[in-house]
Amino acid sequence: MAAEMTIDVTKTFPGRAPIQARLRYAVEASTVLILFGPSGSGKTTILRSIAGLEWPEDGRIEFVSRTWLDTRSRIRVSPQDRHIGYMPQDYALFPTYSVVGNIGYGLGALESHDRNKRITEVVELFQLQGLEAAKPRELSGGQQQRVALARAVAPRPQLLLLDEPLSALDAPTRLQLRGELRSLLKQLALPSIVVTHDWAEALTLGDVMAVMDEGQVHQVGKPHEVFSRPADANVARIVGVETVVHGQVIENVNGLATVTVNGTRLKGLSNDAIGAGVYVCIRAEDVVVEQAGSGMTSARNHLTGLVSEIAPQGVMVHVKIDCGFPLTATITRGAVEDLRLSPGVSVIAAIKAGAVHLVPRSVA
Ligand code: ADP
Ligand code: MG
Repeated sequence: MAAEMTIDVTKTFPGRAPIQARLRYAVEASTVLILFGPSGSGKTTILRSIAGLEWPEDGRIEFVSRTWLDTRSRIRVSPQDRHIGYMPQDYALFPTYSVVGNIGYGLGALESHDRNKRITEVVELFQLQGLEAAKPRELSGGQQQRVALARAVAPRPQLLLLDEPLSALDAPTRLQLRGELRSLLKQLALPSIVVTHDWAEALTLGDVMAVMDEGQVHQVGKPHEVFSRPADANVARIVGVETVVHGQVIENVNGLATVTVNGTRLKGLSNDAIGAGVYVCIRAEDVVVEQAGSGMTSARNHLTGLVSEIAPQGVMVHVKIDCGFPLTATITRGAVEDLRLSPGVSVIAAIKAGAVHLVPRSVA
């Protein structure tokens, strides 16, 4: 039987609706689960319950062959005995400890020779050489993030929990560290759970993704499948990007990349080199639908396609267009009538290059 993680817990904070999360997924050596959802949906509570820092009043948590929590059998394994590395959203570095002091914090059980050896290894792995004696306040945001990760990983945990690991960083640093974090997580060969509400992060880092809203898990699946095939309108609203398809960069001129998706060419912004595999991500509201044969627009992409489906979504309508790959546009009901749209009608989908988001696709 494949190794699994099972979470089935109820946690109620006074005066609030209960958080009732159920989730089960296969765990391999380096599986990254993404917990995705809006602020307040219960992501941190679930992570803290897995870490043993929050006690659900009811339920079970099982990791591979170990039961960490089972309220019916009164099993409550302590946080220490779970061997988990946990990185909270604000990092929670010890301000008066040096980098080495922070990293060595969880290594108290080791002889001092072994402890120092492990610290040196981890300092190298996270490229913190030269900063050993620095205090957290002397470090940049990106360096603090690496120290926090190094501290979580140093005791060789069997599971790593990262709560919005990149959210405290400025946008350029976040973009750079997103790629680094992906290679690091694969290199560590350590199952991890990463909380985020950023879809590019979910696509870059995740193998499996669970979408949470109002304390419940609404969908579990591969990230690109969840994005392109949300289980219901609620999940679609939460994930907020309706088209996610595989593409390949075939040209790149100063960051304006041309990608092919199933033979259809698209322009988007990316620094990826020719040959790179990417996820092409397009939000439905960024697609302008025009009658075939109509005039020019400023958009870089004009894709010819046939309407395959028209699905009302509240006041808006989702128009699915087959243009070599399935593309979703969201337009008003009035526009559907004006353009006389129905299945089989030929249209042009116009998309600005800036709205074609290209997210690097790792070759796992
Ligand atoms: P997320 O990490 O997805 O933003 P949280 O797990 O932090 O969500 O919070 C989920 C809900 O539980 C929110 O309504 C939040 O206000 C509430 N909550 C979280 N921690 C506490 C706490 N210690 N006391 C009371 N309410 C809490
Ligand atoms: Mg949170």
